[in-house]
Amino acid sequence: MNYQIRPALPFISKSLFFLYLAAFLQPASAAMQLELPAVAKQGECIRLILRDDSLPASGDGAAGGAALPVVQFRDKSYKIFPLPRPDASADGFVGRALIGIPADLEPGNYKVRVADKEQNVKVLAGNFPVQVMRLPKGKDNFNASPGEEDTVKAAKETVSSRQYWDGKFLRPSSARVSSGFGLRRRVNGKLLKDYFHSGIDFAGGLGSPVAACQSGKVLIAHQGWKLHGNTICIDHGQGVLSFYIHLSKILVKEGDIVKAGQKIGAIGSTGRASGPHLHFSLYVNNDATSPFDWFTKVF
Ligand SMILES: [Zn+2]
Repeated sequence: MNYQIRPALPFISKSLFFLYLAAFLQPASAAMQLELPAVAKQGECIRLILRDDSLPASGDGAAGGAALPVVQFRDKSYKIFPLPRPDASADGFVGRALIGIPADLEPGNYKVRVADKEQNVKVLAGNFPVQVMRLPKGKDNFNASPGEEDTVKAAKETVSSRQYWDGKFLRPSSARVSSGFGLRRRVNGKLLKDYFHSGIDFAGGLGSPVAACQSGKVLIAHQGWKLHGNTICIDHGQGVLSFYIHLSKILVKEGDIVKAGQKIGAIGSTGRASGPHLHFSLYVNNDATSPFDWFTKVF
């Protein structure tokens, strides 16, 4: 059997033939391209970039009013927000979606889908340690104040369209980190089921300053919750929210626009806390992700 196309033609012509064949076989949505990492650890955040030349470009926003596809990962949908194009002369749409990998998601292979495109993401174990803790009597339960859990849940689900942050995130405290992200905990002898440490603890002294990790809008500034204590939540936009809990003092109010590094409160021991510390957490589309990533990478 002879598989040669045109044996008499030089090599270049054969290459051209396959090039034409490849172009002919491309699906209709070939204009859409996905960029995302193939591997991610539990607790990391994935930055998905979508390029689609069939959608109108837009420097600051809405892709000319065209409907944008959504990202599907596991049983969740993630909104894509337009990014300004680095090259203003180029055509087409560039957007970004942020996917938080839950710290307790079973390691393995998962599909990320956008319209008819899909890509595999391999989730690796975060290898989080188990921390042994003792809590004094009266602080060893999970009873929240009325409305506390609902308010916090609604805040974590917030996806506002404006991006307030710019660049890397700042540490909200200069104090030593006493507990990292993702830790499992054994409290008073019992391993807490379905629990992982959703943020970072900064072991600062009572009253030491707490700063906004990035610019944003204050969504919660609440005094006296039983579980979280005095709490601030800042909406950084596009599904990214930071929480500052167990505070002794709150210096902002709901609706305030804050700048990166602005002093917003002071470290305390209010709520379910064994001593003065700042519990700082970062939620991305309703999943706690490792703030360390955001201190070092630009999303
Ligand atoms: Zn904590």
